[in-house]
This record gives sequence, C-alpha cells and structure tokens, in this order.
Amino acid sequence: MLDTTIAGSLPKPEWLAEPEKLWAAWRFEGEELKRAQERAAAEWLRHQEAAGIDIVTDGEQFRIHFVHGFLEHIKGIDWEKKTAMGIRDNRYTVQVPTVTGPVSRPQSVHLDEVRFMRARTTRKLKFTLPGPMTICDTIADDYFESRPDMALAFAGILNEEVRELAAAGVDVVQFDEPAFNVFMDDVKSWGIAALDRAVEGLACTTAVHICYGYGIEENLRWKDTLGDEWRQYEEIFPALNTSRIDQISLECAESRVPLSLMGLLKDKEVMVGAVAVTPDRVETPEEVAATIRAAMRYVDPERLYPCTNCGMTPIPYEIALGKLNSLAAGAALVRNSL
Ligand code: ZN
Repeated sequence: MLDTTIAGSLPKPEWLAEPEKLWAAWRFEGEELKRAQERAAAEWLRHQEAAGIDIVTDGEQFRIHFVHGFLEHIKGIDWEKKTAMGIRDNRYTVQVPTVTGPVSRPQSVHLDEVRFMRARTTRKLKFTLPGPMTICDTIADDYFESRPDMALAFAGILNEEVRELAAAGVDVVQFDEPAFNVFMDDVKSWGIAALDRAVEGLACTTAVHICYGYGIEENLRWKDTLGDEWRQYEEIFPALNTSRIDQISLECAESRVPLSLMGLLKDKEVMVGAVAVTPDRVETPEEVAATIRAAMRYVDPERLYPCTNCGMTPIPYEIALGKLNSLAAGAALVRNSL
C-alpha cells in the first residue's frame, strides 16, 4: 500500500552530461557513452533502492530528452530539416526535426536499457516513453494530413515498442503527456484514443503522466498565468477515467490543483505528486506525508502511489537525491500510521 515511484527522469551526474540543463550534450560517445549511461543508471537504481522507492526507473540516463530520445530511432523523420516550433501552445520555442515520410521502428529502441535494469533489480520496474500527443507537439509535420493521423501512427509504433519492453520484464509502462493539460479539447477528441491505441493488448500496468512541466523558468512563468486554481485536469479526467490506462500521475505538491479533482478518477490508480520539482529546496518527510494525507481524502490508500510532480532532470543531483529520500520517508510515515 502507498507504493512510491517517480515520474521518471533524474539528473545526469556531472561526469555524464552538463548538469542542471535540458538537452545537455553527452561527455562521451559510442561504446564509452553506453558504459557511462549504464553506470549512471545503476547508481540511480542503488539510490532509489536505498531510499526505499518501490517502483524504480532508469532515471532516463540513456536519453538526452524525453521525446527525442525515442524519436531518434524512428524512420521517417528528417533531423536535418529543423523547424522552429512554439511547443505546448507557444510556451517555449524549440528547433524540432520534421516528419517527412511514413514513420516506422526498424528495431526496438529501449530493449537493451530494460534488460540492463531488469537484470539489476528485483523491484518493480517502470519504463517511461513520450505519449503520442506530446510527440506530435514536439515534432514538425510535413507528411501527415493532420495531428490525429500522426498521433495514431506514432501510437502504433509505441505499441510495438512497449509490447517488447513488457515481455522483457517491465512492470509499468508510462506515457508522458504534458500536452494533455494544454490542448484539452484535442485530448478528448483524439489524444486519449491515441493513448489507448498505444497500450492495446498490453499485459503490464499502464500509466500516463500529466504535469505542468519541469521546474524551469518558462513553466514557472506559465503557471503564474493560470490563476488561483488550476482546473485543467477537470476537463480531461472524466474521459481518462473511462480509458484503458490503469494509473494517472498528477501534480499536487506546491501546486494550485484542487485536490478534489482526483475524485474524478474513481476507477483508476492515482500517482500523487508529493514532491515538487523545484531546484532549491527538499521537502521534509512530514510535508510529503501531509500531501499524501490530503490526497487520501479523495483516493483510498490502496489506489494511491506517492510520486514526484514531474521529472527531475534539470535540478541539482543532491536535491533530487534528497527528494527521493523524503518521498519514501513521507510515505512510510503515512503507511505506519494506518
Ligand atoms: Zn512531467
């Protein structure tokens, strides 16, 4: 009960890539890079286990970015043809590659990483991938007729990938969909359908992570414009509650999301963000426990998974480590009091 997990990413150690930066370049290449990534992932695995995190991840140590780390291996994308795109409804502008033909997956993208992790832990293993809608919002399109068409094409590819990862021993497959609380109408008309396609026929647990982004300046500015109550989830949770997805991850710590919105997910398991992804402060276990207890007013402990608000890529290594420890300790406080 109250099994802890993280949204996915963890900071790269400074010997692997420039710290506290998104899209930081690797300090190695080729086989040397692979060994270095494995070393970093193994270190974070030990940290998660030592902290007492129940469902562990590779901390996304094998990828530079949560979307492009997958897309780099997909055919039909021209990486030379860069387009400036205002992603997440123009919250930030990024030079993105362009889809120029039918998309396909020549071979498994993350199987080696999953095998590496599976061989090193007996805990439940989670693996994260970008969701179809967020992929479509992070790549330019010169081929498909529409975003829904492109999303379904990527959903088919993601489905091939996650079936392989599940067969290799992944317990939880999670799709990251930060675009879900930006394009709420699209979520209802095609986003959830694409997500359902991505998990079709999958035997393992499935999850979707929907956040307000990394704790970077662009996101903090955006959050300031959202008013006293962040009610984006209210528009999509009823539809998500009838989807195929088993677990929904949302922000709670230091957010202005009314916790009552979790009441809209009666048939789902809920990953409650109980530590914020801010770079400067580690929550105390008591603060984490208070967030979990507040969430328990709307979600029974059997369905509640204490989690981080979002990925921790851009925050200092030691802060992330502290947050892992507080997350597990805070959940233990609540568990022991039940
Ligand atoms: Zn996130």
